[in-house]
Amino acid sequence: MNNMKYPSIIFFMFLIFSCDNQEIKYLNSDLSYEERLDDLMSRMTLEEKVGQMCQYVGLNYLSQSPKNMTAEEILNSDSQASYKGFKKKDIAQMVVDGKIGSFLHVLTPEEANRLQGLALKSRLKIPLLIGIDAIHGNGMVRGSTIYPSPITIASTFDDQFAFDVGRQTALEMRATGSHWAFTPNIDVLRDPRWGRVGETFGEDPKLVSNMGVKMISGLQLEDYTGNNKVIACAKHFVAGSEPINGLNVSPMDISERTLREIYLKPFKAAVNSGVYTIMAAHNEINGIPAHMHKNLMTGVLKKEFGFDGFFISDWLDIERIHTLHNIAKDLKEASYLSVDAGMDMHMHGPYFLEAVVELVNEGKLSIDRVDYAASKILMAKFKLGLFENSLVDLDDVINKIQIKEHIEKSLEIARKSIVLLKNDGTLPIRDFKKKRILVTGPNANNHAILGDWTKPQPKENVITIFEGIKTIGSEKGHTVDYFDSNQNIRKISDDDIITTSRKASGYDHVIVVVGDNSLRHLRKNKTAGENMGRSALDLAGRQLELLKEIHRFNKNITVVFVNGKPIAEPWIKDNIKSIVESWEPGQMGGLAVAEVLFGEVNPSGKLPLTFPRSVGQLQMIYNHKPSQYFHKYAFEKTAPLYHFGHGLSYSKFNYSNFELINDEKNKKILISVDVSNTSDIDGDEVVQLYFRDKYSSVTRPVKELVAYKRQLIESKSSTVIDFQIDYEDLAFYDREMNYCVEPGEFTFMVGGSSQDSKLIKNEIKINKRYEY
Ligand code: BGC
Repeated sequence: MNNMKYPSIIFFMFLIFSCDNQEIKYLNSDLSYEERLDDLMSRMTLEEKVGQMCQYVGLNYLSQSPKNMTAEEILNSDSQASYKGFKKKDIAQMVVDGKIGSFLHVLTPEEANRLQGLALKSRLKIPLLIGIDAIHGNGMVRGSTIYPSPITIASTFDDQFAFDVGRQTALEMRATGSHWAFTPNIDVLRDPRWGRVGETFGEDPKLVSNMGVKMISGLQLEDYTGNNKVIACAKHFVAGSEPINGLNVSPMDISERTLREIYLKPFKAAVNSGVYTIMAAHNEINGIPAHMHKNLMTGVLKKEFGFDGFFISDWLDIERIHTLHNIAKDLKEASYLSVDAGMDMHMHGPYFLEAVVELVNEGKLSIDRVDYAASKILMAKFKLGLFENSLVDLDDVINKIQIKEHIEKSLEIARKSIVLLKNDGTLPIRDFKKKRILVTGPNANNHAILGDWTKPQPKENVITIFEGIKTIGSEKGHTVDYFDSNQNIRKISDDDIITTSRKASGYDHVIVVVGDNSLRHLRKNKTAGENMGRSALDLAGRQLELLKEIHRFNKNITVVFVNGKPIAEPWIKDNIKSIVESWEPGQMGGLAVAEVLFGEVNPSGKLPLTFPRSVGQLQMIYNHKPSQYFHKYAFEKTAPLYHFGHGLSYSKFNYSNFELINDEKNKKILISVDVSNTSDIDGDEVVQLYFRDKYSSVTRPVKELVAYKRQLIESKSSTVIDFQIDYEDLAFYDREMNYCVEPGEFTFMVGGSSQDSKLIKNEIKINKRYEY
């Protein structure tokens, strides 16, 4: 070999090495995220960038959908997916071709690894961002810890629990290969006919904001960097929780004032807390579909509130700008309208990529929009550590999900969320006399306690209400039996009613578990949940008949509700001795309910929404305007069945010495109140502070929740509860839509419920006007 060749080979190798080095700059984790991102973006073709904006449903999930869905069925389905003309191997090839940046509904860690393996074969080896509806635990994945649903968490009035659920959910998600939780749902619930009440934190903007912010911070841990955090997704933007007829997706017509004072508040709080993604809502707002609402997405959220993350569309809603709303003439125009308005990622399926590439090439859509979207999505992938390791350790999953600490947290939240609606003294069930107890009703012994957004879970992970009562009741020497009155709420028959009621006659105490079933895999048999709105708020099906007939044979009844939305049944309140609202208390819910029934746990949950007496009373919210009940109904009361904030305890609490100090210099109000527990049992009280602006330039609600605190108060003792309120917490939009506090008197009210008779009052004067 010629000697001279050596230096040139070395030089050539040096060149390759240095080029290589340049090529992999974005793969170098020693560099800053920004440097890596710039490098990667500079290497990407337009098609690859748009590929990042494309999300598809997991391949196994696709296989579970019925074969041969029609085009119409595909568009109308909210859960089943099918891509006409595409086989699973075509989708897999698209990952290798860099045409897919994200998946949703990847329900096993094995599949997550398989898909990431495909992404590693793509030209730029960009990992996939995997999103999932981990609403209260990673419930779509079998074996995950199932926590109480959001409405249940909200009933604790303890924001820390929202954080805990977020944190533990993030850990379980990462263990099974997902990085993006489509939660929290920060829709402010103002129409309980809507099927999705259980997914929300209730009707109060403050409570919804606080819970939402805490959940986001539990998921993202502020910066979402590293491999034990996930990005959160605040949804649905905006105002879909007061649809005109109660049905999901139906239009929302709303004033600018209500939009800002009610619905935008939690989104502003979420943006301030650094939420990285926001999902658009299914509905239109004042004639403009949320998915193309440039003014709201770009104008308000990005420019005004400073949202610095990315938007994701909801399930096929870009398509619906064409197919449902009849605005765009085709999918390409729909894609234009949405992306131009600020949309960054498409959920889910084909045609979007081609449409966006064409729109940019034709000069209709600005490349800046694509660059923004792709860079935000890629930044998440960098920060989440996916370029370093996108695969999960399959052997380690078992050590990360359904672990002791998580199960205990699920139980703790369930214990603190259960609301005792009524008690004539029959609860707790005492054990000085051994009793024969019957547990029955459609939700007595099933998994309805898990709520929506859960797939079937292993039986051994879940304690049903009957199982909980049987365990604790037997420990206390009672005899506990179960009778199946038919678990399918829609199919309760004459025979079920007759046999159950006759069976109940010989027992000392009958616990009847009724409510709703929102388990999505039950499809047509469920009675609540996504896309299962109702035109009534009574007990679904023949449950009331069943209860009345049992009551004919046995008056010693406790009703336990398992449901995600208020049930308007005045008969139950008037006739049943004790009533427990357990909501959807999660996998340990049966134990928590039993502990409350037998007095092992003192109930302390409070209602995060108002229970109307009937659907005709709607809109029924505690923070209504002064004129709402100026007149009465001909045949109905104007009072609700149960007030917002209501919830009984086995303890008795008294409020006194309610003092307010106006700290004008610091623009704060310092508040204190003595709360005493006069009973001989320790208990948690949720102290609720409301205010009312006495005179203002526009009408203001009769009361608004401004702060709350959960506090353990030992028996026969008293505690001082302090609050510090900023003047800004009292602000509203004046006639010119300035966000301000006007000078004048403010009434503060404190107590254990929003019901006037349960509140004590005091007043304070603010002397100047303040603008924010
Ligand atoms: C729901 C979203 C959800 C998405 C993906 C939609 O139907 O509205 O909340 O994140 O499906 O499952």
